[in-house]
Amino acid sequence: MTRTKALDRIPVCLTRAEHLLGSGHTRAAQIHLEEALSAILDLPSSEQDSWLQQHDSIAARLPPPDFTCDGCGGKCCRNVYVILRPEEEAYFLANHPDQLETRYLSEKAVMVFKNTVRENGSFICPFMNQSTGWCGIYENRPAICRIFPVGCYGCTVARSIP
Ligand code: SF4
Ligand code: SF4
Repeated sequence: MTRTKALDRIPVCLTRAEHLLGSGHTRAAQIHLEEALSAILDLPSSEQDSWLQQHDSIAARLPPPDFTCDGCGGKCCRNVYVILRPEEEAYFLANHPDQLETRYLSEKAVMVFKNTVRENGSFICPFMNQSTGWCGIYENRPAICRIFPVGCYGCTVARSIP
């Protein structure tokens, strides 16, 4: 998303989230918060802080999930492409060049983590510890993983997949 589009989208999503939260529509509010967060991360990092504060003050009013990642086995780290943002590419190229590949998604070339394909055809992130289900690069995981807190909409969708 371009900076201009992100700046258009963020206040709309935050306002809707606030309104929905106020009227008790928690799940819909959560979806708008996630869209706002995704757009915020498309801004230059120098412009993100004030928007993140606004996002977090609304998100703090969401009810906490009634589950944790324990026992999930990292379902959110499977069968998805972990797309790197341009500013993240240099770090991963320098530190994990063998784990990267270029893919054309929606006709756009993006750099993604090279997934590990398993016997049943499913695939998992190369950085996921398969015995524990935990992220092996948690402190340095890319933004697309950071905007995926336990209990978010995408998390509940991932958890419902057998
Ligand atoms: S964030 Fe959700 S899907 Fe991902 S490991 Fe935790 S509980 Fe599972
Ligand atoms: S980088 Fe970590 S959090 Fe992100 S998909 Fe891979 S294992 Fe999961």
